[in-house]
Amino acid sequence: MNRKFLVTAAAAAALLPGCQTVETTQGGTVGVDREQRMMVSSQEVEAGSKQAYAQMMGEAQKKGVLDKDPALLKRVQDITKRLIPHTAVFRADAAKWTWEVHVISVDEVNAWCMPGGKMAIYTGLIQKLGATDDEIAAVMGHEISHALREHARERISRQMGTQMAVGIAGALFGIGEAGQNLGSMVANVTINLPNSRTHEVEADRIGVELAARAGFDPKAAVTLWEKMAKQSSGGQPPKFLSTHPSHEDRINDLRAYAEKVAPLYAAAKGGSAAGR
Ligand SMILES: [Zn+2]
Repeated sequence: MNRKFLVTAAAAAALLPGCQTVETTQGGTVGVDREQRMMVSSQEVEAGSKQAYAQMMGEAQKKGVLDKDPALLKRVQDITKRLIPHTAVFRADAAKWTWEVHVISVDEVNAWCMPGGKMAIYTGLIQKLGATDDEIAAVMGHEISHALREHARERISRQMGTQMAVGIAGALFGIGEAGQNLGSMVANVTINLPNSRTHEVEADRIGVELAARAGFDPKAAVTLWEKMAKQSSGGQPPKFLSTHPSHEDRINDLRAYAEKVAPLYAAAKGGSAAGR
């Protein structure tokens, strides 16, 4: 990239309409604190998410793979219901989200949460990993944390920024173009595209705190990722791992943060109110 382009791109970024720096969450005990640059509103992203989710669940229903096992659905719902109230520690508005979770009968190790609290977990994750309730709480806590931090909105903003900077520099793209198909962009960044290491660390740390506050053993995040890593040793690694880069560092970080939130877990188990 030449110097002239860099200057032009920087000038374009400065001129982008609606670009704002936000803090999506409070720090909690784990202390996640990073400013995020957004170029699209939460409302627009949530509208896209709602549309994409409804479409995907409709397709799952048609294929006969939606919530086939009522007992398993209830088990997952009970776990997410315990986690959700604790999202208030990180952001007050999350309590008003229209949270939803479905179990999809697909032999794939995967789970996700779209912006605004639209979740799914695949039977492949539960069955192949032999996931315990604590481990399901760990994976859903992690996915919920991506939504709380609005990582999808941030990643879409980055995509739009690149597109628009290139557009202004080369007069190739119109501004309106980036705003098209927001629903498919949301689905794509949530389900298909790899997360950055920064986003993963944030989701890991907030995730263990959510689990601990809800009375799930935060150390289950460690066993979950160990089981996940084992899956990748024989043949095709789970898609979940390709969208969630795995590192030894991650296990070490999870272990340290599980330790940090252990008092919250103890307090939740003891039935007393956990302090912030
Ligand atoms: Zn993740």
